[in-house]
Amino acid sequence: MMKHDLKYILAIVIVLFASCNTNQKKETAQQQQNTLVFSQGEKIKNDNFTGTAYLKTLIDADSLNSISVGNVTFEPGARSRWHSHPAGQILLVIDGVGYYQEKGKFKKILHKGDAIKCPPNTPHWHGASADTAFVQVAITGREKGETVWLNVVTDEEYNASGRN
Ligand code: MN
Repeated sequence: MMKHDLKYILAIVIVLFASCNTNQKKETAQQQQNTLVFSQGEKIKNDNFTGTAYLKTLIDADSLNSISVGNVTFEPGARSRWHSHPAGQILLVIDGVGYYQEKGKFKKILHKGDAIKCPPNTPHWHGASADTAFVQVAITGREKGETVWLNVVTDEEYNASGRN
């Protein structure tokens, strides 16, 4: 009888241990999901952005490589001014929900995993959605000159309905 009980208790202990172990693995995977690849960097202090945004420069353009790469984090509601890039830009959405709009087109709603190609000399803006922060990696051609900054994105423009 005693032996039987011990086997039973041992079986329960093994099941509990295995289940704890599984939970631990799940937590670790979840933590990895929540950990972003690039750091947030410094708060952007110029007036090219409305609201709070952060920039971590990953790659500066130089004489051998004319493309710069930066990780930009927008707090909910934060966005760039309207602007254009003489050599265009590619945006890779790293996390959250954001917006991208080209002049004369509908605002696009962006989600983690989306990639956007912004044509050269095309006025546009990008930023976070109203409720969710947004993290993007911006890959910008610099060989034809610096970004041209335009008007502030008004609340009316920002709040206009978007498309997925
Ligand atoms: Mn841009």
